[in-house]
Amino acid sequence: TECLAQIAAHNGQLNALVAVDAEKALAAAAAADAARAAGDTRAMLGVPLIHKDIFCHEGWKTSCGSKMLDNFIAPYSSQVAENCDAAGFVVVGRANMDEFAMGSSNENSFYGPVKNPWDKKAVPGGSSGGSAASVAAGFAAVATGTDTGGSIRQPAAFCGITGIKPTYGIVSRFGMVAYASSLDQGGPMAHTAEDCALMLNVMAGFDERDSTSLEHAKEDYTRDLNAPLSGLKIGLPREYFAEGLNAEIAGAINAAVEQYKALGATIVEISLPNTKLAIPSYYVIAPAEASSNLSRFDGVRYGHRTAKTGNLDDMYEQTRAEGFGTEVKRRIMTGAYVLSHGYYDAYYIKAQKIRRLIANDFQAAFAQCDVIMGPVTPTTAWNIGEKNADPIAVYLEDIYTLGVNLAGLPGMSVPVGFASNGHPIGLQIIGNYFAEAKMLGIAHQYQ
Ligand code: GLN
Repeated sequence: TECLAQIAAHNGQLNALVAVDAEKALAAAAAADAARAAGDTRAMLGVPLIHKDIFCHEGWKTSCGSKMLDNFIAPYSSQVAENCDAAGFVVVGRANMDEFAMGSSNENSFYGPVKNPWDKKAVPGGSSGGSAASVAAGFAAVATGTDTGGSIRQPAAFCGITGIKPTYGIVSRFGMVAYASSLDQGGPMAHTAEDCALMLNVMAGFDERDSTSLEHAKEDYTRDLNAPLSGLKIGLPREYFAEGLNAEIAGAINAAVEQYKALGATIVEISLPNTKLAIPSYYVIAPAEASSNLSRFDGVRYGHRTAKTGNLDDMYEQTRAEGFGTEVKRRIMTGAYVLSHGYYDAYYIKAQKIRRLIANDFQAAFAQCDVIMGPVTPTTAWNIGEKNADPIAVYLEDIYTLGVNLAGLPGMSVPVGFASNGHPIGLQIIGNYFAEAKMLGIAHQYQ
């Protein structure tokens, strides 16, 4: 009821949700209360949850921020939605997002931009901006997000909440609309690391319906929440504190690092020499995969179909011209170009080689430290419309987040204060493969 009241009061302004089903939510909450009274002890029973509009959930519209899927009601549930249902979450609604998860500001949604609850002139980050704004505004206790190139961590940082992008393959992609399949990974967004850990316990797990799902033993991600941090080696990558980083963000990150020192951690300076190459290689690989994944939206099987008549080719063309927004079209064209005969070796193969170098950089770093810390973003949230004329300027904001996805590593954002303009600042923690429990414990002990 409290969440629904918050939604009624503020969603009109924030535009964080594209669907709310109060009746369903109240019925589920009543059922959860009854189950609890009858002795059901599931930890997440009755906890209000919002799904990013990218996760298919049977009976819910799943539009992925796109006109293309504006009429699409999911006929089945993603593994993530199934797991959440089985855990007893109460689903309150669906979060707005950048169209097909392409963006860093939530300005690319067919349903209009989401506003940052801390400053309604500012963007909430993206692509999981609706999820982040929803949690920050109290629309639900937790939300699901996806992170292909920072889309959990960056909006979490901009909205002052916690989010973790797990090791690639831990959370099933089955039923999650595909953007760039080798990078996409679902994860939890919540106020605290503890809530993220509880939520990850529900979301993670092997799924034979996802060919890249890892057969990794079930873990309890809350197990290290209070593990002592003495002796922890924190690596600070030189390249993450170089030119371009806002001074107030640098100050907040350094203050957080000092806290960890007081808790017994030691600091090592490390280097991730190929950091700069993360942007060009990501913005080749992600569009390449997107151009292939999005070829399924042809107006034949499901989704939008043009009302104009013509031959089959006209129908495809017109459907896609009407159904996709500008940024999605830009990515499809870039992707088709870098995959085309004659350019494939020069762009796509090169980008894949750089991807390997970036992954190697991280492994060399983890030989010297247990976790890496740094900023999530070079600046705090910008104003809505500010970067509209310059898509490249938005791509450059992803500098600290993309490497994690290219390497398949877990990364998280932890709120560590505010800039003088009142915008939240996030600390990024990057761990080696399967280090989620350790990272969540480190985040949990930040004060
Ligand atoms: N900003 C990145 C992009 O636009 C990240 C998106 C994401 O992680 N889904 O591709």
